[in-house]
Amino acid sequence: MFSKSEIRDALINYPLKEIMEKATCEKRKIFGNRILIRGIVEFSNHCSKNCLYCGIRAANINVKRYEMKEEEIFEVVKKACELKIKTVVLQSGELKRKKILKLGKIVEKIKGSFSLAITLSLGDLTKDEYKYLKECGADRYLLKFETSDEKLFEKLRPNTSLKERIKNIYTLKELGYEVGSGNIIGLPGSNLDTLINDLLLIKELELDMIGVGPFIPQRDTPLKDGKSPNIDITLKFLSLVRLLNPISHIPATTSFDALHPEGRILGLKSGANVVMMDITPPKYSKNYKIYNKKTEISYYKDLAEKMRKMTEMVEKSGNKLFFDIGASLKAQNPRLIF
Ligand code: SAH
Ligand code: SF4
Repeated sequence: MFSKSEIRDALINYPLKEIMEKATCEKRKIFGNRILIRGIVEFSNHCSKNCLYCGIRAANINVKRYEMKEEEIFEVVKKACELKIKTVVLQSGELKRKKILKLGKIVEKIKGSFSLAITLSLGDLTKDEYKYLKECGADRYLLKFETSDEKLFEKLRPNTSLKERIKNIYTLKELGYEVGSGNIIGLPGSNLDTLINDLLLIKELELDMIGVGPFIPQRDTPLKDGKSPNIDITLKFLSLVRLLNPISHIPATTSFDALHPEGRILGLKSGANVVMMDITPPKYSKNYKIYNKKTEISYYKDLAEKMRKMTEMVEKSGNKLFFDIGASLKAQNPRLIF
């Protein structure tokens, strides 16, 4: 199932149940029923960009902006370690250089204190900044290309280009990061061809991690009236991502829950082998409104309680949580494998 026409045929004609089963079978061959868990800290919602789909875009004056202090980030990472989490993702909007340098010091401190992997998700930086953060100890970087349609990309991400984004992905690889990328499924202005090309681009990039999720409208953005894709096409897309990329780490993200009450469980039944747990303190997380969240975040304030819910959810999908650093199967980096 690799050619463009075969992918098109699968997206249109292949029964969803069968494709989900195939994806699960492929995942089981590599990962068994083990599901990796990553903790995500949304440490700042400041952003200099104006992506039309995103609720923390610079032009949104309804956002209460925040930046977690170094001690707060450190504290939350410590709590994650106590819960046996072995990867933390530090995510934010696009920050000024001064803040990037400050973050490097925090990365250094965390790596010096705990045995875990750090993934960064900070958007487009200069090569120098990526290099600096790598030298501070960051292991992985998540930079989604969002859409493979150049024109749509430029419309939805003003003053940026797909070429530049892809170039950054290759720069990150060259610097030795494990790299994740992916798309937003069903962005307004995209169509079936976009999805097919997104799948082909994901494959071409040979990624360590693949983050895909549905478009969820956010009420303070120019795309507030846009429609989310339906759950079936979203799960089909995810299943195809797995079938085309057997050894990549693929999360079932919280955005799946915005489409369906059991969205993430269905994601875990469509080839995903990773779950993300939001470990941002709720007082900040409530202002990280990239899209309108309909998740457990505000309900389970206590992280241990959240972990219990996560364990239940994973077990309901027929899998088991696995507390491992979860290095890329492509990376030959013994430092990260234990
Ligand atoms: N600023 C960084 C990282 C934070 S945004 C960056 O842009 O790379 C993290 C991800 O949120 C983005 O990559 C995008 O895929 C996703 N996102 C933003 N708004 C969204 C929306 N309305 N629906 C679904 N995903 C969205
Ligand atoms: Fe900023 Fe990222 Fe949102 Fe774009 S998607 S506005 S870069 S946080």
